[in-house]
Formats: sequence, structure tokens, C-alpha cells
Amino acid sequence: MMLGYLLARAGIEVLILEKHADFLRDFRGDTIHPSTLQVMHELGVLEEFLKRPQWEFLDFLALQGRRYPTFHLRMQAEVTGLIEEQGRIAGLNANTPDGALEVRTDLVVGADGRNSRVRDCSGMEVKDVGAPMDVLWMRLSKRAGDPELLFRADRGKVLAMFDRGDYWQCAFPIPKGRAEEMRRGSIENFRASIVELASFLGDRVTELRDWNDVKLLTVRVNRMRQWYRSGLLCIGDAAHAMSPVGGVGINLAIQDAVATANVLAGPLRNGVISIDDLARIQRRREFPTRLTQRVQALMQKQQARGLGRAGPTRLPWPLRLLERMGLPRRIRTRLVGVGMRPEHVKTPDVYLGD
Ligand SMILES: Cc1cc2nc3c(=O)[nH]c(=O)nc-3n(C[C@H](O)[C@H](O)[C@H](O)COP(=O)(O)OP(=O)(O)OC[C@H]3O[C@@H](n4cnc5c(N)ncnc54)[C@H](O)[C@@H]3O)c2cc1C
Repeated sequence: MMLGYLLARAGIEVLILEKHADFLRDFRGDTIHPSTLQVMHELGVLEEFLKRPQWEFLDFLALQGRRYPTFHLRMQAEVTGLIEEQGRIAGLNANTPDGALEVRTDLVVGADGRNSRVRDCSGMEVKDVGAPMDVLWMRLSKRAGDPELLFRADRGKVLAMFDRGDYWQCAFPIPKGRAEEMRRGSIENFRASIVELASFLGDRVTELRDWNDVKLLTVRVNRMRQWYRSGLLCIGDAAHAMSPVGGVGINLAIQDAVATANVLAGPLRNGVISIDDLARIQRRREFPTRLTQRVQALMQKQQARGLGRAGPTRLPWPLRLLERMGLPRRIRTRLVGVGMRPEHVKTPDVYLGD
């Protein structure tokens, strides 16, 4: 969505296909970090964005995009395959409520997340980095007087909570493969684990009536060896699925989008996109991606080892190391919030004559 917005703003025809009917974020978190806020600032929409809840982020981007005549968004349009002609990706096929859709284009960008259909259809290789945990994902109502709680960890259990206005979106990480075993046990034990971590939820934990109210989100961490081929580029989780650890995945996907627009706006306007252009994007974004995945993998390993173990929960070692190094809090916060190699908007708003 961010790439579509940036390119439409630069005067390029864009069609975004989204398989769902809305952008409800049931399958991902919604932490927006300073790197993304900086991008919004550079686009001149930060103040407006800050008036809205973070979980409306994609709706907000769509609203901004629609201000430009070259921005087109089709909801309930699910990409099913790629069109290949003489070794080049020349378009795609999708299913919509009105029937089959065929799109021909200079470039297909796969930004369809960690289960990317575009990537699967491309035949390109994916390297699994490994994820030792999954996440149980559920809603509990939010009430007046609730603390501003985001994260609780104690005796091998972790609970993260996202404020979604009138409810809490709760995440409870578990070791990979344990979900079935847990589901065979009683929901009462699970409810008790939640209350142990956040006692104020005791008055509403019965909203989890049975295991049907608790979803399993499968965590994947992987990356494509090559993010592109002629006529096709993958970015965000499609190119490199991120773990929820650190809540950085959305922000990395936004950085990919900004870098892609910066490199491709010119070539797209001229209608000639070379393999070198696409390679430049991977070269630019691969280093921050690999480094972030490496740190996430270390933290995941540590967290997964601690999950289900009695005794106080220790900070993952990379964080303890940072603590011991005595780096000022400002620098540590910057590493998570801004990340490595932050991207800046270099594409114009052609309608303003930037
Ligand atoms: C449990 C969990 C919690 C997380 N929490 C956080 C967090 O708090 N903060 C954070 O920054 N990151 C978090 N992450 C990581 C984050 O969700 C991803 O890194 C981020 O969403 C990637 O953005 P994306 O745009 O590449 O893909 P996505 O956000 O997955 O978006 C892909 C879009 O493509 C659509 N789509 C998929 N297939 C098709 C198709 N065939 N045709 C058309 N449309 C399609 C989807 O509906 C979706 O809207 C979490 C991940 C997990 C697993």
C-alpha cells in the first residue's frame, strides 16, 4: 500500500490488489515505529495520521493514495497466478467477486506477506531461517481504568497486548508445535495463565469461552535468495518473513517500499525497468533485513527456551548485552525504533510540483 501511494503520488499508474474485504489486522501486529513516523512526516501527513489509531494504518494509506488519480485499489481481488512470457513476468491473474481478472503490467510487486502467492508462483528460492515459536492470538475487551500495558513476562510465560480501541488484541507466544497439545488441555488452565500475567483481566478472561476463541498464528522467518526476476520484485514479508519479536516487521516492509519507490519511480515513468534497477533494491535492503532477522532469531531462541519454564523470565541475551555495554538508552531505543539504514522519501508529489 505504501509503495502504491508513493508511486501514484509520483504520477505513476498503480493497481493494488488486496484479497480481503478490509484491512483488519487479525494476522499481524500493529506497532508503528519512529522510522515509519518519519516517512509519514516526510510525506506531510504525520499530524493527520497521529489523530487515528495505529491499527488503521493501511486504511489511512489507502485514503492518502486515493487523492491521486493514478492510484487504484481493488479489494477482494486475490492473486492466483503470474503470467510469464518469454522468461519475463508480464502480469498476473486474480479472482474477484465479479469473476476472473487478468492484469498486464511493466512490473508486478509481490507485497502479499509471509504466505506470498506471488513468491510461490515465481519459482524463486526461499531460505528458511527458522522460528521456534508460534503465537496464540485472542481478543479480550478493554475497560475504563485498564493499565496501559503492552508486555508482561513471568515464569516462562509472555503476554503482549495491543490496544485496539474497545478491545485488547492479546498475543501469547508458545514453543512451536505445542498448540495441539495445549488445545487438548482445558481452556481454564490457559485462562489462569493469562490472569497470572495480567490480574486485571480476571474479570473478563471467560470471554475466551473455548479454544475456538483462541487463534494460532504460525510464525515464519525466511528470506528469498533473490528478490526479483525480470518483470517481478518481492518486498516486505513476501521477500523476507519477519518474526513478531521486536515488532519491527511492518516498519521494515515500509522501508522496503520507500527504497523501491526511490529506485523505480524514474524507470517506471520511462517504462523501462532493468534487472539492475531491481537488483539495486535488494542490495540496499538486504543488509538491514538480514541483520534484523539475525537478532530476531537469537531473541526467539532465547525466548522459546524460556517459554514454559518455571523461574523468573530473563531478558534475552542480546538485550542483556546491550544493557551491559552501557549504551545510552537513547541509542538502544534508536536501534529498535529507527533500525539500520533508514530510508527517506525522495520521490516527488507531481501534483504539487515538488
Ligand atoms: C503473530 C505476529 C505478530 C506480529 N506483530 C508485529 C508487530 O506488532 N509489529 C510489527 O511491526 N510487525 C509484527 N509482525 C510482523 C509483521 O506482521 C510483518 O512483518 C508485516 O505485516 C509485513 O508487512 P507486509 O506488507 O509485507 O505483509 P502483510 O502485512 O502480511 O500484508 C500482505 C497483504 O497482502 C494481502 N494478500 C495476501 N495474499 C494475497 C493474494 N494472493 N492476493 C491479494 N492480496 C493478498 C494480505 O491480505 C495482506 O493485506 C508480526 C508477525 C506475526 C506473525
